[in-house]
Amino acid sequence: MIDITTRAQHLEKLLGAPWDAANPAGFAAVVAADEREETAPAAEAVLDEFGLLAEFVPRALGGRLDRIDHMIELMRSVYRRDPALGLARAGQLLASVNVWTAGSPEQRAAAAELLLGNRRIACAFHELAHGNDIAGNEFAARRAGSGLVLHGRKESIANLDLADALVILARTDPADGPRAHSQLFLPAGLLAPGQVRRLPRFRSVGMRGVRLGGMEVNGLPVPDGLLLGAPGTGVETASRAFQVTRLALPAMSTALLDTALRVALHHTRRRRLYGREAADLPMVRTTLAEAFADLLVCEALSRTAARALHLCPESGSVHAPAVKYLVAGVLTDAVQRLATVMGSEFYRRDGEHAVFQKIVRDVRPVGFGHIARAACLSALLPQLPGLLGRARRAPDPVPAALFTAEAELPEPDLSRLRLVAGGRDPLVSSLGTVLDEDLPAAVRPLAEEHVRGFAALCEAGAVLRPRQLSITAEVPVRELAARYTVALAAAACLGVQRAATAGEFLARPEWLQAALVRLGGMERAVPAGLPPAVEDALIEELLHRDDHNLSFGLTGRPYA
Ligand SMILES: Cc1cc2nc3c(=O)[nH]c(=O)nc-3n(C[C@H](O)[C@H](O)[C@H](O)COP(=O)(O)OP(=O)(O)OC[C@H]3O[C@@H](n4cnc5c(N)ncnc54)[C@H](O)[C@@H]3O)c2cc1C
Repeated sequence: MIDITTRAQHLEKLLGAPWDAANPAGFAAVVAADEREETAPAAEAVLDEFGLLAEFVPRALGGRLDRIDHMIELMRSVYRRDPALGLARAGQLLASVNVWTAGSPEQRAAAAELLLGNRRIACAFHELAHGNDIAGNEFAARRAGSGLVLHGRKESIANLDLADALVILARTDPADGPRAHSQLFLPAGLLAPGQVRRLPRFRSVGMRGVRLGGMEVNGLPVPDGLLLGAPGTGVETASRAFQVTRLALPAMSTALLDTALRVALHHTRRRRLYGREAADLPMVRTTLAEAFADLLVCEALSRTAARALHLCPESGSVHAPAVKYLVAGVLTDAVQRLATVMGSEFYRRDGEHAVFQKIVRDVRPVGFGHIARAACLSALLPQLPGLLGRARRAPDPVPAALFTAEAELPEPDLSRLRLVAGGRDPLVSSLGTVLDEDLPAAVRPLAEEHVRGFAALCEAGAVLRPRQLSITAEVPVRELAARYTVALAAAACLGVQRAATAGEFLARPEWLQAALVRLGGMERAVPAGLPPAVEDALIEELLHRDDHNLSFGLTGRPYA
């Protein structure tokens, strides 16, 4: 198997320089395709040539998925050019994680064969009538003799019209309850036109190249053998399998902020105002530095949570909603602030910076697609007393392997994902151990503040009662879950800095100071500013990476 660095470089080379106006997979082509509500055909062809979908197929099934953090990093090369191109492909991951989790050997082999052949599997879960409440879904698979008969509607399904197969969530028990739904893995060829009416394509504000389809099914007979996993386990399988995607999709989306920041730098370094570069104006400079710090925060949490899926998968039910909640929020806010420094340039649909207005629109679904940020807090809430109680009792140092990109990982074992973590979250527990002599002096007061904040959160958690933690939880209680995600991100940043190789940018204290200031600011009405020396260090690194075409994320890898 070709290593990840070589694969990522190869994909960057195939997709070419995004700023090159003549590149059929570059920003100009991507924006032109977006105007047509498509993705750029040349970019699609490159992804097929590269065999991108093999990145979602476990190695044991002939694919290249052996590290979730690597898959995420590779997908950033796609998302940074066109998030719609990325999401349209990552939609296959939504479907296939369910097959890898619950499918029979034959179903797993069939799904792998499709993806390895560049064919698509759509994930038909959501229904407009029920939104995030998938347990309320009505699309039915009723037993009829030795088979099943399908009835109902499914809408806003990515790539439904291009799919060769579907994973469908269907009600198999008319009575409500946790075992009312099952999943089906269905060849698209079974969708007979007589019983299946295709709905017109849904049009959207952002991610316009993602083809959102729908279908109305009226009495379609299908064989019993299409059930994915045991009858009644549909929601449970999704709850476990989607821990991968609820983490991975926002993590891939950090590349949107990379591009937004790159375009903002490109513009403000060339724009002259008041006799100097706009990038030198204090307000602009601060926004650029803060956006860089925000990107590093998002990638530190994503990296750590992705690695935790290998090392302590039992915590996935906590880390996945936390990543989705925090990363989606930070990315959306940061892109919005960068739009202000772009001035009127952000509003243009033509010219060399036109990709910016697309990013502003494309970033929004990170917050609600697949699952809403608010629903992530709802998922965390019932686990909070157990997590906080255990963290109070047992602060544990965690292995450095959780934080370093270089450390080896066992292959992912999705069968170890659990519905609840049973209070186990080694990442958050590590916060209790960070105030030792290895902590850089410049970081200590900020780290102490986060440790104190987490101790206060643990106190607040001790008095929570189960009836306060249901779907009807009051806003101040929900805020406690949001604060938990901040504690996780702080622990991730502290761990990444500590585990970095001496001499690297990540081993320096400045980015960590900035990260902890930004995270602390999430709990304040008026966030604190970055200390001047910290801002200087961030801007210096940012300009260096911009000049040398390196990624702005944790890896700082070469970009085309
Ligand atoms: C580009 C794109 C691609 C998509 N691709 C697919 C796909 O391939 N397959 C698929 O099945 N679906 C897909 N979807 C559908 C998408 O996942 C759904 O839009 C979404 O999950 C359903 O939620 P809703 O937006 O209707 O929000 P609703 O559930 O109506 O929620 C509205 C608001 O209510 C609040 N809320 C909802 N639930 C909770 C909760 N539990 N706790 C607290 N507050 C809550 C939140 O504020 C939420 O934002 C796609 C959507 C988009 C935009």
